[in-house]
Amino acid sequence: MEGLFSFLFLCFIGLLILYLTIQWAIDHSQMKAEISEIKEILLKLQPPHPSENHPDSSLLSDKNTGESCPGCGSKVTGQESACPSCGLRLADEQ
Ligand SMILES: [Zn+2]
Repeated sequence: MEGLFSFLFLCFIGLLILYLTIQWAIDHSQMKAEISEIKEILLKLQPPHPSENHPDSSLLSDKNTGESCPGCGSKVTGQESACPSCGLRLADEQ
């Protein structure tokens, strides 16, 4: 009878340890989520980096993608020999 009692006691201790381990793991994961949330808030509060927002780079890329007609200023692709909106001949043809 005494052996059975000690066996049940050991089972109870094992279950208690298992329960405490699971509880700790849940608390740990919740703490991780809270830390990541705080990180996100801090990143949002930070002002945007000034070097990332270059107005010159956007202008350069606009010039590279297409030309503008000297007569009407509308966008003209480099392959066209005349402006589609005003009909001005472009000097690209040779
Ligand atoms: Zn034009």
